[in-house]
Amino acid sequence: MLLTLYKSALRPIEIKALLKLKIKGKAYAPPKEPLAELAEQLDDKAFCYAALGKVSRSFSVVIQQLPEDLKDAVCVFYLVLRALDTIEDDMQFPLEQKLPLLETFHEKTVDEHFSLKGVGDQDDYRVLLEHYPKVVRMFKTLNEDSQRTIIDITAQMGKGMADFSEKEIDSVADFDLYCHYVAGLVGIGLSGLFVASHLETLSLNDRGKNSNAMGLFLQKTNIIRDYHEDLYADRTFWPKEIWGQYADKLDDFANKPESKQSLSCLNHMLTDALQHIPACLEYLSHIQDEQVFRFTAIPQIMAIATMAKLYNNPRVMKGVVKVRKGLAAKLMTYPVSMNDVNNYFEKALRTIEKKADNGTPYAKETRQQIVAIRMKTKSLS
Ligand code: MG
Repeated sequence: MLLTLYKSALRPIEIKALLKLKIKGKAYAPPKEPLAELAEQLDDKAFCYAALGKVSRSFSVVIQQLPEDLKDAVCVFYLVLRALDTIEDDMQFPLEQKLPLLETFHEKTVDEHFSLKGVGDQDDYRVLLEHYPKVVRMFKTLNEDSQRTIIDITAQMGKGMADFSEKEIDSVADFDLYCHYVAGLVGIGLSGLFVASHLETLSLNDRGKNSNAMGLFLQKTNIIRDYHEDLYADRTFWPKEIWGQYADKLDDFANKPESKQSLSCLNHMLTDALQHIPACLEYLSHIQDEQVFRFTAIPQIMAIATMAKLYNNPRVMKGVVKVRKGLAAKLMTYPVSMNDVNNYFEKALRTIEKKADNGTPYAKETRQQIVAIRMKTKSLS
């Protein structure tokens, strides 16, 4: 906490927000006991929110501020996808059991007898799967449209994860498809839940293409940021079609973070991710409900702020580069308008432009991308 405050020292609003959020966080914090103990004590709904608090940390605060009906649906959706992701990520779980389970997991979401022991690389994740009937019973309290949305998205995502368990991310098209499965579908599902709760009326374009872009923008930011961590964990998400232009092996960049090749690749990856900005801004400009707007806008603002920090930054290849927690706290504590969103994006684009000067690898392409983004966003308003 002290280091976090220090990093926001010149931003008094962020300090105030950090302290406010700490208080608010306490009000929404899950009980201190281990989730396994809570599973024996709590009813289905209380268990689901406790699990959400344990597995999603700070974001559960934003979920809990959503309007009542939507909140439960988003909570269940999050837990179902967390359970599915736990199965995908457990590298000890034999493929011959994992693949069929990924493909049929959506059926488990209506099966009150399904429970899985010993799968998951974290305690809370294992408890979630072991006590999955509690999630299923909570799922059954949701309205029919919400249930249908969650099952449909889970089926598509499980199928996609199974496909990618056996193949590499080679082309940029593979990269976009993988990000569609694990994140674009989350955006599409959330839009479905917003509509099912009657809080939003979204066009087909917003519910499909633009929702997908919202997910891709976040996922690509994380994948770029987590280069080093994923390398260390033996996972590869950067498409070879991009990194292969600058190295023979993906880990070459970790050995020479400052090299032209390394920074070209990083800036190329970021420039690719920037393309989703106009669709994200279009989507956000159509959101009506204030709480839904915060819920959808905050992660996007964090993502673009992260991108500005990652651009041409050799530290990405050596460890984790993170955005000040104070910014997240400020966003979660104070109102956020579409005007604020536009300003945050413009500010970040200007930061990237400044970094993309003549000596910077891949700068020309980045500047062209930014010009294209500005033209597209201008034609929207
Ligand atoms: Mg995963």
